[in-house]
Amino acid sequence: MEPLIPFNKPYLSGKEVSFIEDAVKRGQLSGNGYYTKKCQEYFEEKYGFRKCLLTSSCTDALEMAALLINVEKGDEIIMPSYTFVSTANAFVLRGAKIVFADSSAVHPGIDEESLEGLITPKTKAIVVVHYAGISCDMDRISSIANRHNLYIIEDAAQAIDNYYINSTGEHTPLGGIGHLSTFSFHETKNIISGEGGMLVINDESLIERAEVIWEKGTNRAAFFRGEVDKYNWVDVGSSFLPSEITAAFLWGQLTEMDSIQKKRIELWKRYDERLSQMTLEIKMPIVPKHSMNNAHLFYVLCKDLGQRTALLKHLKKNNIHAVFHYLSLHKSTFFYSYHDGRELTNSDYYSDALVRLPLFYELTSIQQNHIINSLGSFKK
Ligand SMILES: *Cc1c(COP(=O)(O)O)cnc(C)c1O
Repeated sequence: MEPLIPFNKPYLSGKEVSFIEDAVKRGQLSGNGYYTKKCQEYFEEKYGFRKCLLTSSCTDALEMAALLINVEKGDEIIMPSYTFVSTANAFVLRGAKIVFADSSAVHPGIDEESLEGLITPKTKAIVVVHYAGISCDMDRISSIANRHNLYIIEDAAQAIDNYYINSTGEHTPLGGIGHLSTFSFHETKNIISGEGGMLVINDESLIERAEVIWEKGTNRAAFFRGEVDKYNWVDVGSSFLPSEITAAFLWGQLTEMDSIQKKRIELWKRYDERLSQMTLEIKMPIVPKHSMNNAHLFYVLCKDLGQRTALLKHLKKNNIHAVFHYLSLHKSTFFYSYHDGRELTNSDYYSDALVRLPLFYELTSIQQNHIINSLGSFKK
């Protein structure tokens, strides 16, 4: 019997511990120090993000975003139902009404067509989720948001190092388009720090307040730059900073970003090429023309829940740990009584039918062949 192929295995570049050791020797262990600045500058320079602030999770970054756009009780926030709970929780915590949108028929991202019909005078923001790292149609979403004067927030938790391609072929980094964007460095993502995240502030007018909210509602960041002579409680805020130990770990990953991405993309393409050549009962993922691919995850689509249950069982019998993903949030135990009753059939379809295959740096070609062959031998 072959040993189990896990769904994920966190990748270590080997440099993390020496950077952590250096952070310890530098003597500042709290946040906003040497390694935090290094990581933030890396993103600002590489992707042209206006301002980056490391956070202790993407969840935290989303909560900062909700504070920054001043969400008040009754404000409406549009987002896909097919997403992680944190996308919604951040706004629910501020008293917002969540208006869930359906997924597109071709991929699990938000159905851009449906957006206009969901906007009311109370709508404050559209939160898009780049599912599997694949870009939503950002020109289309931007034009709708501009017309109605709405904030765009990108939940780019899965979308590190990926790009939107507009109709003239121009590439824009994901996370650089919304007024605010959030990333995750959770151990299941491409680039990791255990728990970790980042808020990107592209709207110049929100930068100063973002730093205050980040530093517990104080102007401590401005104080350390010598811009004010005392630091004071100036606004609401919380403790959103990761420690320097976490930032040092993250730096150990960022220095290896290119090789991590190259390897993941090779694995993704190999799944796609090999599986597309076979006659299978299941469907392959579609990457729309407006998106590059950062190989965050590789999924296949069954025809329904029954077939998916059988497929997961078949893979398990072959010692492969494949997993499904989100349950539609509009049908969740917490939310379903608040939902307005609209059917979101595409979201429900992805909830029932999507299967994520193992994809991690150290997946060997023997293991990947075994997974591909096991999909080939699935009959139902
Ligand atoms: C992972 C993920 C999050 C949460 O990230 P954390 O860093 O674990 O808080 C939020 N949204 C999406 C779409 C995610 O994939």
